[in-house]
Amino acid sequence: MTVYDHIIIGMGMSALGVIKGLSSADCKILVLDNYDNKPEFADYCDEKIAIGRLGKGGASSLWHGVISNLSNYRELENYNDDFKDNFDELYHTNDHSLFEKGYSFIPFKPLRPFSVIQSKFSQKVDIVYDKVVEYHIDVSGKVEVRGEKQKFYSNYLWICAGMVGTISLVSKSTCQFGKFTNDDHMVGYFGQIRRTDLSSDFIVKNQYTFSGHFKKFHKIKLSNNISLYVNLRPAHFEFKDIRKAASKRSFFGEESGRVIHKLINSKSPGLILEALYNKFGFSIKSKVYNITGHIEILGAMEIEVSNTYCKSKYLKSEIELSEEDIKLIKEYFKTDVFIPLKIPLSPGIHYLNSNYHFDDTIDANLCNEFTGRKIIICGGAGLKYSSPEHPTFSYYSMSFRKAQSFNKFQKGRI
Ligand SMILES: Cc1cc2nc3c(=O)[nH]c(=O)nc-3n(C[C@H](O)[C@H](O)[C@H](O)COP(=O)(O)OP(=O)(O)OC[C@H]3O[C@@H](n4cnc5c(N)ncnc54)[C@H](O)[C@@H]3O)c2cc1C
Repeated sequence: MTVYDHIIIGMGMSALGVIKGLSSADCKILVLDNYDNKPEFADYCDEKIAIGRLGKGGASSLWHGVISNLSNYRELENYNDDFKDNFDELYHTNDHSLFEKGYSFIPFKPLRPFSVIQSKFSQKVDIVYDKVVEYHIDVSGKVEVRGEKQKFYSNYLWICAGMVGTISLVSKSTCQFGKFTNDDHMVGYFGQIRRTDLSSDFIVKNQYTFSGHFKKFHKIKLSNNISLYVNLRPAHFEFKDIRKAASKRSFFGEESGRVIHKLINSKSPGLILEALYNKFGFSIKSKVYNITGHIEILGAMEIEVSNTYCKSKYLKSEIELSEEDIKLIKEYFKTDVFIPLKIPLSPGIHYLNSNYHFDDTIDANLCNEFTGRKIIICGGAGLKYSSPEHPTFSYYSMSFRKAQSFNKFQKGRI
């Protein structure tokens, strides 16, 4: 029987961070990923919509790669340094001040951890494709991980199975069944502004680099401590009608290849210009800007787990902004803003801050607390503070930090 030092479940962004962090130490690592390669669905407005992928690196094989540095975590010295180092290593730019000024980075090529793990780390880790059904700690203190095909053993288990996968796996392994809600950043077209009404400080240019571009996002604090995280997007052709623009809001929430195929068939000039703006920052002047991006929605989706199934469901599909929030948006842009009465929303698929009680969560600032832990949870499920920005690159950086801290903790014990 092989007993690994570490087993890592998943081959997404969180797993990549852990693998990179642990593989610098001399230890035996097994990486497990689901053998499936099929879409993952959730209920949304009486329909089933694809929200990710099971197997082959999960949603991290579909993400668009938009990178923000989470404002609520920037104060944490270790996290912030790792974020910067990981970012520089990939994109060879060291102008981090743009993140602090509210810009996000959109790379030409999103990082695909599944391929990176296979190509860069295959000499350092064993990779097995199996679907993990449950885990438990046996009498000798080893973690037993039961896959559909075989069993595996290790001293430590790192769960990097995405939010739905993590809740499902932890629930089934600890027999805590029920309904758990998660927050999400839901996508929408929140309003419209005329160019002539905007003061020049809001008309900011994208900043280009060889590997992608930085785009300015506005973080607008609304009531109830939630934020809008939006961009001023030049609106052209049919996108000048915000209802039409909003009807296309989930168009980009899919795998890049499918988006390109659908775009070619769409014959919609407004949509094509929108896509070029999103992906490459290519922008043509317009008299009108759409305020678009996402809003933090607390308890946006529910995951229900029993011992036989795991279902996810979106609880919201539109929002009405209060008078107070509309006032806050107008104050932010220092001008009149058109805001529709009802704003349709679609899933942002950033789920974070589950109400599930994860005993094994270690936050980025609590990395020293490994004593007695056998199981460590990473990704959105391991986040403690809400932050409105795109979170995924931070999952990578935080997982890396946790794994590095673990190495130090181990050394300290020897
Ligand atoms: C179309 C789309 C666009 C997106 N764009 C962005 C963006 O621009 N910016 C951003 O910040 N975020 C974006 N996201 C969100 C982003 O994809 C997720 O936040 C990210 O993938 C989470 O990474 P993770 O490693 O925690 O989980 P995942 O990427 O979901 O990886 C989970 C891994 O665990 C494996 N797994 C799960 N259960 C089991 C099991 N029982 N046994 C074995 N293996 C298992 C999966 O196969 C997978 O390998 C987007 C998502 C989608 C779908």
